[in-house]
Amino acid sequence: MNTEVLKQELYEYISALKVVDCHEHIIDEKEAVESKVDFSILVNQYNRCDFSSAGMKPAELEEFYHPDTDLERKWNIFEKWYPYVEDTSYMKATKLVLQHDFGVEELTKDNYRQISAQLQARRQPGYYKKIFEDCGIRVVLNDDLIPYSQRFPENTDLLKRVVRAPDVPDGVQMVNEGFFYNGITCLADLRERVKWYIGTLKKLDNKGIKLMFGMPYESVDDIEAAAELQRLLRSQTEQGSTRLFWYTVDLVLDEAAKEGLPVSMHTGYWEDFRGYSPEGYIPLFFRHPDVRFDLFHLGYPYVKPSLMLAKNFANVRVDLCWTYIISQQFAYDSLCQIVDFLPRNKVHGFGGDFRQAERVYGHRMMMNETMSAALVAKVSDGTLSLEKAKLWARSMLVDNPAEFYNV
Ligand SMILES: [Zn+2]
Repeated sequence: MNTEVLKQELYEYISALKVVDCHEHIIDEKEAVESKVDFSILVNQYNRCDFSSAGMKPAELEEFYHPDTDLERKWNIFEKWYPYVEDTSYMKATKLVLQHDFGVEELTKDNYRQISAQLQARRQPGYYKKIFEDCGIRVVLNDDLIPYSQRFPENTDLLKRVVRAPDVPDGVQMVNEGFFYNGITCLADLRERVKWYIGTLKKLDNKGIKLMFGMPYESVDDIEAAAELQRLLRSQTEQGSTRLFWYTVDLVLDEAAKEGLPVSMHTGYWEDFRGYSPEGYIPLFFRHPDVRFDLFHLGYPYVKPSLMLAKNFANVRVDLCWTYIISQQFAYDSLCQIVDFLPRNKVHGFGGDFRQAERVYGHRMMMNETMSAALVAKVSDGTLSLEKAKLWARSMLVDNPAEFYNV
């Protein structure tokens, strides 16, 4: 089969799969419908990081993204900075949405007003269903970023919640905030509370726990944890305790193992990304062999350690969520390595990481393009047959995440 035909066949096969989206931060549809929006939502979130990296100052960013800023002023700001960031993968995802939804190649001074009006008009109850159908996404594992300690999550058929827990405890929380730490006076209380919380998540059909640390794991014993708890209770200030946090993390993971809830873990790229290096969590993977971990974003830039962790630990998988828009080249290179390095059941192939549902389509298209190109390379070099390449795609995009997250 010549390469062009092969390319077409794999691209069409992957594009037709109804995938499991392993990660988004999609806001409630009701909130989306009630929000005032304009073209700037198509270049928010991660494009914002590129604008900032290019030199846009916080005040200008604030003005650009504020919903009440005059539209012409927004355009003037955008026009000034766009040339520096127009070729990044983040912006490519935006352009794909512009082509698909509005039939234009990019934002221009002739179309930004109309696109803004159309974005607003399309936000009607029920519009999420159409968007995700268009994206070929069956179900989303969603971390909606609402503080977990203030409410139990709700699931819809489309958006299944993965909840962040725990956060770093402080004295105020012990006394009067939320329901996670509130009223705790000893370690036995804390253990009971964690058991109740994780058990309730499971009963409510929550699909997993999300962890995001920013620092390497530390082990804390009962004696130190008890002393920390008493210190917080005495101080009743907002001074947080990372030592008690780590103790609570171990409790959460023990309960997650008992309830069979998997754990999604942010690794790599964010702020001081050294604290998210997956190597710092190795003691955690040893300590909790019965917890199933999903390492997000291939730990970029710690890609090789992430892949090595999935190869080394039976309870660790890697997840390509967010990778295709960080850099399509990096995602392509990683997929090429994954195929002859990891067992086929250790990889999750797609997730988006967006707040606004309108933006997911571009990422899905970039995944189709990248994964088919990488699998074509592996068929061309003789590593895989065409049938095996399709099996890899299906495993990464549908079977593995469906089994892991029980969706
Ligand atoms: Zn995320």
